[in-house]
Amino acid sequence: MTSKYFTCKECYENTPVRTMATDRVELERDKGETFMMECAHCYVRKEIHVNDVNAVPNKIVTGVGVAVGVAAAVALWNIGFIAWISGGLPVIIYGAQRKSASTFNSYYLTRRN
Ligand SMILES: [Zn+2]
Repeated sequence: MTSKYFTCKECYENTPVRTMATDRVELERDKGETFMMECAHCYVRKEIHVNDVNAVPNKIVTGVGVAVGVAAAVALWNIGFIAWISGGLPVIIYGAQRKSASTFNSYYLTRRN
């Protein structure tokens, strides 16, 4: 699960878009091809196209992954190699986050209008 945001064309700030969609096709199914969003910074309401939405690795998911990995590494320290595997968990989670963000960002919906 990645974080989605759009960049405001007025103030160039990012506003989060709440959705569980993993790509722009799902996002369109969720919110429609275009939808109204208010910029969280300059409060201008604007029509957002699904292609204007981008994904970035989710900080919470990555943070939880890091915390779990570190906790597991500490807890399993005496077992040696398992601690090393646990230590690799945050890297794996972050890698998966990066991959799903780039999957989302690489696929654009064909504009119908
Ligand atoms: Zn703005």
